Amino acid sequence: MAFDHKQEAQDMVKDYLQPYRARIFYHLSIAGGVLLLPLGLLNLYQHNLPAGVCIFLILAIVSIDAWQMGKGKHPPIPPWIITLPLLLGISFGIQRHGIIASLWIYPVMLLFFFILPRISANCINLAMALTVTALAWRSDLSFNIIIRILSSSLLTIVFVNLILNVMDSLYDKLHTAALADYLTGAYNRRHMHTSLLAAQAHAKRYNSNASVLLLDVDHFKAINDKFGHSTGDEVLRKMVAIFRKSLRTVDTIFRIGGEEFLILLPETGQDQAIQVAEKLRGIIAGKPLVDDLTVTISIGVGEMLRDENIDALLNRCDIALYQAKNEGRNRVCLAA
Ligand code: GH3
Ligand code: MG
Ligand code: MG
Repeated sequence: MAFDHKQEAQDMVKDYLQPYRARIFYHLSIAGGVLLLPLGLLNLYQHNLPAGVCIFLILAIVSIDAWQMGKGKHPPIPPWIITLPLLLGISFGIQRHGIIASLWIYPVMLLFFFILPRISANCINLAMALTVTALAWRSDLSFNIIIRILSSSLLTIVFVNLILNVMDSLYDKLHTAALADYLTGAYNRRHMHTSLLAAQAHAKRYNSNASVLLLDVDHFKAINDKFGHSTGDEVLRKMVAIFRKSLRTVDTIFRIGGEEFLILLPETGQDQAIQVAEKLRGIIAGKPLVDDLTVTISIGVGEMLRDENIDALLNRCDIALYQAKNEGRNRVCLAA
């Protein structure tokens, strides 16, 4: 299948912040640690033991985690654990100082969005906003204050979600730009090596097979020379669209050079791969692609061998493609 960035995004990265969460937590730990130490000491000095204990618990967790992460290791205490002393600390603060202590929910909401998966952060933050509003209600605060607490905390949640949505869509765009070929929409060469390695690992794990087709358009230079570069481009686009229509959704098309493509066929042995190659070759040669212009392709077919180096596989396919060219083009040759 050619590039489908939505599917790709769903398949490969379900939580965009996930790879950055540890780094964010590390920096927040250092900043939070420095800022929380005087606050913890102040609480102890004022004999506010529960809040003081919560703050020192948070400090202990972030210090241990930051210390290990500074050494390049995984945080030994899962960062989400910090939500417990944080929520307890805010509750004790509200009990002791009244609703004014609920101001802490705003930085804590932001923190949760960055250290927890989004759905969990939204649930906890919503619960926190409603709880604080309910506490304000119970403390007989004026309607004006209650409505301001509720609306400001809900707005915080909405704003952070909007910002995260923008980040998601930027990530999608970046992901597309990094993996897709701009002309044809096929995957680019950069993505090919990883995909081939993954297909090889899959075939090994499930004791199945996979094959690749190395395709090159015949006499493409002459097409460009005769009909112009933009017609050449149109030929490439149409060809990929035809490949896409003719292949299974699990098959992947890569544009690896100007008019050279690689098609990865998972769960496909060499006999089936030859059939697929012959089918594609016949379809392309069988009808004009742009106006009256018909082109032909030559294909080298190779089945992935277990533990074979990817470069060696490509080399075998390249030799088969070269053979197809030498034998007159518009044909399929099997790699030795
Ligand atoms: P052969 O049958 O031996 O493959 O002959 P060929 O003419 O296809 O081979 P050659 O490698 O000499 O030519 C490839 C041509 O592809 C040369 C280059 O101008 C053209 N090309 C490379 N990239 C693009 C592109 O993005 N668009 C267009 N229109 N042409 C391209
Ligand atoms: Mg060519
Ligand atoms: Mg070529």
